[in-house]
Amino acid sequence: MATQNSTKHILVIPYPAQGHLVPLLDLVHLFSLRHGFSLSVLVTPQNLPLIQPFLSSTPAASPLIFPLPSHPTIPSGIEHSRHLPPNIHHALLSLPLSLLKPQILSWAKSIPNPISLLISDSFLGWTESLAREIGVPRVYFACTGALATALIDYVFLHVPKKSNELIQLDSLPSSPSFPFSELPQMFCSYKPGDPDWEFIRESILANSCSWGVFTNTFHALESEYISYLKNFYGHNRVWAVGPIQPTGPPTSRGGNSSVSSVELEKWFATCPPKSVVYVCFGSQYTPSESQACAIASALELSRVRFIWALGGLSSVIPEGFKEKTKGKGLVIRGWAPQVEILQHPAVGSFLTHSGWNSVLEGVMAGVTLLTWPMKAEQFVNAKLLVEAVGIAAKAASGSDAVPEVEELAKVFVESVRMRTGSLTAMQEKAVEMQREAVAAVKEGGSSHKDILDFINAVSL
Ligand code: UDP
Repeated sequence: MATQNSTKHILVIPYPAQGHLVPLLDLVHLFSLRHGFSLSVLVTPQNLPLIQPFLSSTPAASPLIFPLPSHPTIPSGIEHSRHLPPNIHHALLSLPLSLLKPQILSWAKSIPNPISLLISDSFLGWTESLAREIGVPRVYFACTGALATALIDYVFLHVPKKSNELIQLDSLPSSPSFPFSELPQMFCSYKPGDPDWEFIRESILANSCSWGVFTNTFHALESEYISYLKNFYGHNRVWAVGPIQPTGPPTSRGGNSSVSSVELEKWFATCPPKSVVYVCFGSQYTPSESQACAIASALELSRVRFIWALGGLSSVIPEGFKEKTKGKGLVIRGWAPQVEILQHPAVGSFLTHSGWNSVLEGVMAGVTLLTWPMKAEQFVNAKLLVEAVGIAAKAASGSDAVPEVEELAKVFVESVRMRTGSLTAMQEKAVEMQREAVAAVKEGGSSHKDILDFINAVSL
């Protein structure tokens, strides 16, 4: 109940990328509603409409609106990572945001209800010194899993500054399930000495000095790596609070759905349980024409039922595809209501770029995952799910990959195959992990306990 913390005021600084912004706001919504914190959420004018659903459902939250300062690295007028050209790393919106530091500082000093905690995204390492100057602790929000966070932290601590020296992997956890062989792909674009990359590196190093960490994962999925993070940081204020649950209706999560629930339900009505393959590559990635062609041909060849969320930018499905797959599939252009789709009992598997939010939404739905990582930590996420957790099969790997049509079709068929009414071993594991995820966020579950532990720590 919202009483004991009613005077606590948290400054929240999210990062303007869909996969970062949405879960952080869902989390602090919970703190506000259940535990009575008041929230000031920093936002630039263009992104205000994006956080409107959160503001409407969180009475004790107010926006702190500052125009985005200009910065030579970011083309003017861009305030959201989705609009960045592909040659600019999606973490670099942090550069112009960091120029807001003096304004935030003077705002924090002038308000009658002083802030007692800063919660900010992992891309915003500069907020660590902001918190120090304000005189409050900072908790950073890692929207990746614990394994990916551990790898990112470790590598940036040990990364050579000048040359192509090898990274020393000796002190990584010795478990064979720790997939450090994926490191080269994860950091392939890192250029030592490049000022933009140095900024990102400093940001990550600053995170490891912060007072606490939220990681959007849960113990049954990643306990080994949650423990690794605690060791690495040298304290226990690593709170595994996931899977962070959507606060509003799933249809309104992160964008306006381009298909109605009624339409969806009508389409699903004829589909048996676990028979549909859902295809979506998150909010940032659009498959190339040849990739889209391979996916289309594989869907057609496999004859599986499917929903394909094409995203806003893409129009590249081969001519005649819709007619050939009539009755079998639904193609969604624009924003798909992903959580709603995944939660439908008719969905059996999910071809995903292995972005962490998509992964957790798939886990929460108990579907098997078909991994096609495109960049950064997605390779690690995919490997974790396929090799360590056992709820995923590899579909493809890399943003340049174009899978063999027959191979991909086989993966689709296998993923929705039912053994005369009973589940395959992988489907059983997915259902088991779903049970664990649901239990983690319930009262008494590990993520619920970690939230209470955080509340206790800040209330002392
Ligand atoms: N998403 C959605 N509809 C879409 C595309 C994406 O709802 O058409 C949501 C998806 O449910 C997830 C988020 O956008 O919550 C994507 O985050 P993720 O970490 O998976 O990938 P990113 O977009 O950051 O690469």
